[in-house]
This record gives sequence, C-alpha cells and structure tokens, in this order.
Amino acid sequence: MKKSKDLSDLKQVLHTRFLKLKRRMRKAGMPIVEIETGRTIERQAYYFETGASKTMESNHLTGDAVDIMFVTAPHWEGANSERMKVLEENCIAVGLINGGIMWGWDEQHIEIDPQFIAPEVDSTSILISTAILMIEDGLQSNDSEYSQRIIEKAVDALERLIEIDFIPERSITLWQRFSNIFKK
Ligand SMILES: [Zn+2]
Repeated sequence: MKKSKDLSDLKQVLHTRFLKLKRRMRKAGMPIVEIETGRTIERQAYYFETGASKTMESNHLTGDAVDIMFVTAPHWEGANSERMKVLEENCIAVGLINGGIMWGWDEQHIEIDPQFIAPEVDSTSILISTAILMIEDGLQSNDSEYSQRIIEKAVDALERLIEIDFIPERSITLWQRFSNIFKK
C-alpha cells in the first residue's frame, strides 16, 4: 500500500467511525479532512528514518489508522488548542482515539479506541448509516472526482440492499425521496 488518502483503504469499523467524527467536527464548525490512510512499508521506513514516525509497526500499514488536518488554517495545532480538545472529545464519543490521548504527541493520528464498547446494532443499520455518511462526506468534499466516486459507491451499496430486500419496500419510497434531495 503506497501513501493513500482513500478512506476505503481503512478497515470498515474505522471507516464508519471516522465518517462520524468528520460529521461531528463539521457540525462543530471545525471541519477536518483525511491526509493519509494506508501506507506501504517503504513509506513507513522513510517516515521512520526522517523521524516523522517513531515506529516501523504503524497501524497505517494495515488500514487501522488515519491522519487528519483541519480544513481551515492553521491546519496543524498542538495538544492544548481549543480545536484539539474538541477533536479529542469527539474522537472518544465515536470510539476513536488519537496520538495525543495515546502517547502525548501525534495528535492528528487517529485509530480505533480498544476500550470503546460499541452499542449493539444490526449489520443492516450499520451499512445504511455508513452509506448515508459516505454520501454526506462526498457532498462536502471540494474534490468533485472524489465526491462522485464516493456517492456512487454509497448509492450502489444502498441499491444492493434494496435488491435483496434488506430495505423493506415501504422504506424505498422514503429512500427515493431522500436520494432526490441529494441529486439537487
Ligand atoms: Zn498516523
């Protein structure tokens, strides 16, 4: 895996929780954006040699970590800034943890919080909410190619759920109404 910003390089649980985090930060008026998701061993070695990373066993190698920056300047902030505090609170709320909480540096590096106990929900609900979060995320992006790709993926997932009757027929009318809102 070379350096990537593609959220689909992340494991599914991290992908979904990260989209929730992005949503919360956007609502708080402090939008964040992913700058690196997956990583090759060669790139990790480069970061290790230059001191940008302190390990050769990074979770970026396995799709278990994502690095972010703030959309508005300053894009990087230290642990004690207001935005960083809000980021940490929202990480914890959705079952994520950042470098600041884990080891006191690398605040903009985010992983799954191993202590977090996720509420029990069925897999269909997770799929549907992830698809909705993806659509929302796609609509927010300034990168129109990214938007297009991510929205298509999400719509495709929802359509497959409709095909196999995971989404009951009565919900389809609702969904159509909903997707029309997004098309505008
Ligand atoms: Zn990182």
